[in-house]
Amino acid sequence: MHDYPGSCHCGAVRFVVHRQSPIAEAVECDCSLCTKKGVLLVGAQEAELEIVQGQDDLNLYQFGSKTAHHWFCKHCGIHVLNRPRTAPERYAVNARVLDAFASLRPGLTIIPFDGQNHPKDRRA
Ligand SMILES: [Zn+2]
Repeated sequence: MHDYPGSCHCGAVRFVVHRQSPIAEAVECDCSLCTKKGVLLVGAQEAELEIVQGQDDLNLYQFGSKTAHHWFCKHCGIHVLNRPRTAPERYAVNARVLDAFASLRPGLTIIPFDGQNHPKDRRA
């Protein structure tokens, strides 16, 4: 099991992603929100994500079809995770808030995702 702790900037929100395999890739979505936030996303199934603290410190942002749920820390504003339009049954975690991001980044394969043109959405 590979455990990836992460947190927002102020530390109010802490979580761990539990995975069977190491994180080797991240998705760079070009939708209007992801572009402005500059996030890199790593998918996590419901069972793979453990929110350790700060569930109540997360604020929800939605726009457009309001299918996706974007959660950010209400204190420091950092985007922590979301449920994507493409797969609202799972999470996508902001890879940049993982404790191991600096060491992960050089080995990450970045997968571009066309978030601007998704009539019904493809899988991320
Ligand atoms: Zn915070």
